[in-house]
Amino acid sequence: MAFAFVALVILSFVGAEGWSVWQARQDCLDSARVTTINMTRALTQHANDTIQAADIALVGVVEALENDGMDEAAKPNIKTLLQRTVVRFPALNTVSIYDSQGRGLATSRTVITGKFAIPRREYFRYHASHGDATAHVSEPVRSVTSGQWVLPVSRRINHPDGSFAGVAVATIEIDYFAQYQNTFDIGSNGAILLMMDNGTVIVRRPYDPALIGADLSKGRLYRAYLRTGEQGSTVLTAVLDGKERLYNYQRLADYPVIVSSALAVDDVLAHWREDKQRTTAIEAVVLAVLCVVGYRLIRLIDERERAQEELRQAKAALEVTNKTLERLSLQDALTGLGNRRLFDTALAEEFARAVRGGTSLALLLIDVDCFKRYNDEYGHPAGDACLRQIGDALLRTGSRPGDVAVRYGGEELAVLLPDTDEAGAIAMGERFRIAIHALEMLHVGSPIGMVTVSVGAAACGPGLDSSSAQSLVDAADTALYTAKEGGRNQVRAAAPRITNC
Ligand code: GH3
Ligand code: MG
Ligand code: MG
Repeated sequence: MAFAFVALVILSFVGAEGWSVWQARQDCLDSARVTTINMTRALTQHANDTIQAADIALVGVVEALENDGMDEAAKPNIKTLLQRTVVRFPALNTVSIYDSQGRGLATSRTVITGKFAIPRREYFRYHASHGDATAHVSEPVRSVTSGQWVLPVSRRINHPDGSFAGVAVATIEIDYFAQYQNTFDIGSNGAILLMMDNGTVIVRRPYDPALIGADLSKGRLYRAYLRTGEQGSTVLTAVLDGKERLYNYQRLADYPVIVSSALAVDDVLAHWREDKQRTTAIEAVVLAVLCVVGYRLIRLIDERERAQEELRQAKAALEVTNKTLERLSLQDALTGLGNRRLFDTALAEEFARAVRGGTSLALLLIDVDCFKRYNDEYGHPAGDACLRQIGDALLRTGSRPGDVAVRYGGEELAVLLPDTDEAGAIAMGERFRIAIHALEMLHVGSPIGMVTVSVGAAACGPGLDSSSAQSLVDAADTALYTAKEGGRNQVRAAAPRITNC
């Protein structure tokens, strides 16, 4: 039980700590998720505002062109208008006008590096074939006027009759987005991505010009976007660099652009890991102490139980010894019968019981005849052996379980017979006498030639008081004397009778 208790304490401790460590990890990931949500919101707002600025600029330019016309005479004014527009909207790289064939008509730029024509550009073909008057955001391209990577935002220009007159294009430098992305703290392994809603990369942090225009439509992030739509959070391992990140993404409300920001799970959990290592080290120490204390506790309990068991065994052994000693203290060493002490106790007890129960009690005093001469003739050791045989005969000669046979002293024995009257006592005395005679132990010093005993019997009945116990002994003694006087080897009852005892 102690072991189970210690194990339970340790398990509870480990369980509680494991749970709190896990909880701390979840908290880290939760707060990182909130961070990415906030970052994505800010990036989304910025991208939306930037593209909207280009769109607003275009609206002004297209209106002016549609009102004032696009002939040769208007060209100087158009250039001025375009240059003013670029100055007004700092996000803009260039604003250019192309005619219905895709040839450049005017640009805010003073120097043109490439061929000033866009007949094959996707947005040109779009506006040529679509009559809608909304802004069109296209995939990043290298500017025909500056050679830089730009994001084109374009609008269709109509003739007064509604037919296609050309395209106005405002370009936003990709670098403009990249610089804004750089203002965020995303740790050493975070990532920010701006892409078209068809999966084409506009710009990504960490910045890699080779990635601009790349197709990520097969990527995991794009697939997550397709699953959830609009916005969401997910944990992914990036195909680009194999890093596991916590992503949040959102599509711009007004334009086909998706923004995503991500923090590396490793970075997010770095502090948690440090904490975990520190607390794990401390917990390991606490656990070790707990184990040692638990072990000592169990040992202590074990030792105590062992000591108690030893004590119990010692007590039991002592009780056995005590009983043996008690038995020995009440036993006569030579004959194995009870001794005088036992006789005194038994006499007092049996007498009191007889008085209480109104029953009778008898006593036989048995004395070996002419024993002095036996000793003289055969020696003291033979005398001892003779007494032992007489004791055995006494025990063998069927007395009842309540009877008490003792060596009263010297060669004199006594038998206490509860619930026995005088006649019963005489009968028992006879049986003993005959049994001893039947041993046929030679005794040349005796007139009979055999070892014999004389028996004095006395009994008392109802009406006794406790002071009469001694009178029972005296009566038996007197009867014994009478038996000796009468020639030995006989049983005699008390005379005068002490029936009134
Ligand atoms: P009586 O027939 O009148 O009883 O004669 P007795 O010789 O038996 O009586 P007495 O009292 O004169 O002598 C008793 C003897 O019993 C004396 C003593 O040496 C002997 N005796 C008493 N106790 C022991 C004992 O333990 N061992 C032996 N061997 N002898 C004992
Ligand atoms: Mg004798
Ligand atoms: Mg005697």
